Amino acid sequence: MTETSKTESLQFKAEVRQLLNILAHSLYTEREIFLRELLSNASDALHRLQFEMLTNPEVLDPEVELAITLDFDAEARTLTVADTGIGMTREELIENLGTIAHSGAMAFLQQLEAGQRPSDIIGQFGVGFYAVFMVADEVRVTSRSHRPEAEAWTWISSGENSYVLEPALKPDRGTVIEVRLKEDAAEFASSWRLEQIVRKHSNYVAFPIKLQGRRINEQIALWRQTPSTLTDTEYADFYRQLTLDPDPPLLHEHLVTDAPVNVRSILFVPRRREAGPFRLHTEPGLKLYSRKILIQETNKDLLPDYLRFVVGVVDSEDLPLNISRETVQNDRAMRQIQRALSKRLLKKLQDLAETHAEDYAQFWREFGPFIKEGIATSPSDQDELVPLLRFTSSKAEGLIALADYVERMPESQSAIYYILGDTIAAVGSSPHLDTFRALGFEVLYLVDPLDGFMLQTLREFKGRPLQNVDDPALELPPAPETAEEAPTSLPQPDFERVLERFKTVLGERVTEVRESKVLRDNPCRLVSAESGPERDLQRVRRLFEENFTAPPKILELNRSHPLLSNLAGLLESTPEAPVIDATIEQLFANLLLLEGLHPNPAEMIPRIQQLLEAATRKG
Ligand code: ADP
Ligand code: MG
Repeated sequence: MTETSKTESLQFKAEVRQLLNILAHSLYTEREIFLRELLSNASDALHRLQFEMLTNPEVLDPEVELAITLDFDAEARTLTVADTGIGMTREELIENLGTIAHSGAMAFLQQLEAGQRPSDIIGQFGVGFYAVFMVADEVRVTSRSHRPEAEAWTWISSGENSYVLEPALKPDRGTVIEVRLKEDAAEFASSWRLEQIVRKHSNYVAFPIKLQGRRINEQIALWRQTPSTLTDTEYADFYRQLTLDPDPPLLHEHLVTDAPVNVRSILFVPRRREAGPFRLHTEPGLKLYSRKILIQETNKDLLPDYLRFVVGVVDSEDLPLNISRETVQNDRAMRQIQRALSKRLLKKLQDLAETHAEDYAQFWREFGPFIKEGIATSPSDQDELVPLLRFTSSKAEGLIALADYVERMPESQSAIYYILGDTIAAVGSSPHLDTFRALGFEVLYLVDPLDGFMLQTLREFKGRPLQNVDDPALELPPAPETAEEAPTSLPQPDFERVLERFKTVLGERVTEVRESKVLRDNPCRLVSAESGPERDLQRVRRLFEENFTAPPKILELNRSHPLLSNLAGLLESTPEAPVIDATIEQLFANLLLLEGLHPNPAEMIPRIQQLLEAATRKG
């Protein structure tokens, strides 16, 4: 006999011991999820065997049915979960259930401390198996690998510091987990309770789960059923079991089609961003089945990248079974499936926008940036994506679509105007809006860094160009005269003097200082020295480039503004007064700030104090 055929006792790693200690002694709620975890492992083991059998005819017991069997003995207070899956060798038992330092154990404990519910997260850290110690005094895992020459072994632990390995007699392939239930967990040795838990948490496991010879989970995969026969609750249950997200999905789309390609698919959009695809340790992607066999747990090629928040399953008869990562990308059927899925999903989102405004607003809050990303990165999807965009604006109460904007444009308006900035408050008080307000033209507020990217490809809507309000080439009709008396504007020589002083103080920081034709309430504004979408990226670059300085702009002055008259007066009486240059500097800094281009707003403070001192000095 070799060394490794003897009984042996081994120690758990420290973090696993800590985890076991908490599971065994301090978690008393929702203990039932231990069964979900054992069934999920059994189902994984069956899927892996199925996959192995596609290419390897040499597995043990190839004829045996792929199934999970539950059994219990109420008197002895025991429960067993058996599967005919891939099984584990002695080394694998040690590696998977024992000695290996589970990095997930620490992460799980940290999430627990942060207040997460254990049942929501335990499956996500590669430590789901240990949940069984919430209900067990002792657990015995007897397993025989699918490799014909492998021997059976039993792993035994009572959830303390160590576990024992001993040789076992198990003639057939698979894993049997025997749970000796704690005294206060006797409820789990009962058939109605087991059935109830399976229906609640594991109904859609793809293999039969049998209890006393009866299958107790759903017979047919949900996605293979006819959509009209299914209820929202069934979809929501399926979603919960797929994602462990406690909230129901925002929407589901069930696609059943045979041409041009066979697809059975259910896609879900989660209610929250963190819920589905962004959960810790859960990668984005769809479950891919080919002829009912799970080919990939998270396939990322079935949807464009920007739809990575979508979760769900896809099953197709048209995919080759031996599909690999590369063939998945190059396969013709695959590309057809991708097109069918994204078209359907985007259509569904449009429907949601039209019929369920509140749900759509929720969608936009959580996933709007992904739609913008899609416009920037997948120009071919623009027609479907643009109607999904929502904006705030100078006139909107809530969110509007581009179609709403166009619909209420006055006749004299030909372009769609937008303003870029950091916050709604900043753009709302921007001097650029003076004229637009006077004209009654609506301006879209673009305050998301992604907007700059999106504008690189989104240049028009229904034949109307999108124009930045700071575009120097902007042509606007004359604003209607207001009833108020027009303010008096500075006489030419005085205005010239002010203009020259601005030039001297600001130097190369502006390309030009000139009179504004459009300003009404504000003393000055900055306009771009050049048109073109690249300048819409300046705001984004400022976030990513440490020493970014915006290229110089044109400064426009409002000849009728009292502040400029005051400056003209000072230039006449006391041209050396420091308050003149400080005022010019501060006006310029204000503009950079409003434009979202100021490199360091704190720099303003000494100057503002200087100005305040001047303003409060007794005259
Ligand atoms: P996870 O399932 O997230 O990997 P678990 O703690 O649930 O984490 O399981 C740890 C590992 O133990 C699994 O990855 C698998 O390799 C192995 N395992 C658990 N149960 C079984 C089983 N019934 N059959 C085969 N392997 C299993
Ligand atoms: Mg697991």
